Amino acid sequence: MSRPQTIVVKIGTSSITDSEGVVQREAVASLCDQVADARSNGHRVVIVTSGAIAAGLPELGMGGDRRPTDTITLQAASTVGQGALIRVYREELARRDLVAGQVLLVAIDFVMRSQYLHARSTMHRLLELGVVPVVNENDAIADEEIRFGDNDRLASLVANLVDADLLLLLTDTDGIFTADPRSSDEAALIEEIEEIGNHHAALGGASGTSRGSGGMASKIMAAKVASWSGVRSVIARADRPHVLADAIAAKPATGTFVKARPSRLPARKLWIAFAVGRGGTVVVDKGARAALERGTSLLAAGVTEVSGTFGAGAPVDITDTSGEIFARGLARHSSEELRPVLGLRSADLPPGAPHVVVHANDLVVLPG
Ligand code: GLU
Repeated sequence: MSRPQTIVVKIGTSSITDSEGVVQREAVASLCDQVADARSNGHRVVIVTSGAIAAGLPELGMGGDRRPTDTITLQAASTVGQGALIRVYREELARRDLVAGQVLLVAIDFVMRSQYLHARSTMHRLLELGVVPVVNENDAIADEEIRFGDNDRLASLVANLVDADLLLLLTDTDGIFTADPRSSDEAALIEEIEEIGNHHAALGGASGTSRGSGGMASKIMAAKVASWSGVRSVIARADRPHVLADAIAAKPATGTFVKARPSRLPARKLWIAFAVGRGGTVVVDKGARAALERGTSLLAAGVTEVSGTFGAGAPVDITDTSGEIFARGLARHSSEELRPVLGLRSADLPPGAPHVVVHANDLVVLPG
């Protein structure tokens, strides 16, 4: 038996709901059975589940092809569906004498340190109490600008939150292939990726459905985020028998394993580095780039240009004058406030004018 591990398992809407959006009890039951087996082998498991929006729509007469497109209605539907979803998890875990604890998170919980620490303590306590945390995005209140957008990303941040050993991303294919298996006979499963690069995203192919929002590209991104936080991940087929046990045992050909990077970025920096929304771009000169790489804050003097319109606190790409994005950060001031002070040394700025463009604490230099 393998040593006790903490595993985050993510399952998507299309794996657990039918085309109308109704939660498929057998699919949830199968996952809960596997979680119970893992638990009896000493492992700790967190479930990240989607399906709240899809599950809420049929009750509102909006199931299947009547699915609305506006975000507010979808957010409203999630409140109906989340109840239905958690009920099935509670019942199926209870069948195996396990207690489910519902945890609903939003992106800001990973950005604000106090929120992050609360979420972290609660998750750790739940696991100590033997509860199975069942996590989803709090779709009802998630801000459209900064929401996770898909639960793959949420799962990767949860993996960081609980110091997971493994993130299992369940999907409708066996993993990542060398080519699209639907159009190429040569396509082979990639069993292990050392470090995710841009070419892997291109291999993703389309596996998203209209009900789920993930697709392979978002799994690849989630695996990258996990890797950056020191967590190994595996992308595998949801209905593969014993997928969780095989993933824990690192059985060959379970799916595509992605190695963890040796250094670990804290969750807040991870969020900044991989934030979904991008407010704009800040272009800096050579000297400023070198200073940022040494860990300083970005000051107005080093900025040559600001493009896009963004508010204070927005995530921005930081590029050098060649256009290479080498860092990301949260802007201290809006694009409107910043434009008049670009290139000005702190001593030349009028009193009260913005001086720090991105503070070092809010900045991540991306490895080349
Ligand atoms: N949080 C959304 C839900 O539960 C789904 C997000 C996703 O598609 O991954 O319906």
